[in-house]
Amino acid sequence: VLRLAALREGIRAVPDFPVPGVVFRDLTPLLADRAAFAACIEALASPWRGQDVQAVCGIESRGFIFGAALARELDAGFVPLRKPGKLPPPVVEVDYALEYGTDRLQARNDALRPGQRTLLIDDVLATGGTLCAARALVARLGGALLGAQVVVELDALRGRMRWGEGAPLRALLHF
Ligand code: 5GP
Repeated sequence: VLRLAALREGIRAVPDFPVPGVVFRDLTPLLADRAAFAACIEALASPWRGQDVQAVCGIESRGFIFGAALARELDAGFVPLRKPGKLPPPVVEVDYALEYGTDRLQARNDALRPGQRTLLIDDVLATGGTLCAARALVARLGGALLGAQVVVELDALRGRMRWGEGAPLRALLHF
């Protein structure tokens, strides 16, 4: 069994990407290591086992990688929450603010059944804007949100404060 410390070693810090002053956390070494990837998915799944998760909603695009594997692990379906212009209509969408400008997440308008027990997943929680938009989209779709799971939480950016206390937010690793 790999420990969380071993998973941390699969995450590379890339200074000044995508812009000067930002330290980007690159999770691709973890994905490429079969033992680390397996241990990661197992650790992501374990707190949600026995909660009858029916749908895992993953956020484009790295949330798709972890989300699809997590959905299989939890025996749930997978629903992609996508950047605009990727899904055929009809879609529902939520706009959210970025540091400069806005972005948008979309889903098929019938992606969730009313009350479907839903878990959100993304790779990294930074300011929390993306995950909060995803939560709003799940609400529009009529899903029952059980909570959210991320692989990495960047504590200094305070995304957890933005998320609030209404639903559990779990992070595997903190930087
Ligand atoms: P937020 O909306 O919380 O500020 O940003 C989170 C989104 O940006 C996530 O979808 C995540 O994939 C991406 N993101 C922000 N910072 C990083 C990072 O350091 N590494 C990776 N892999 N993704 C990041």
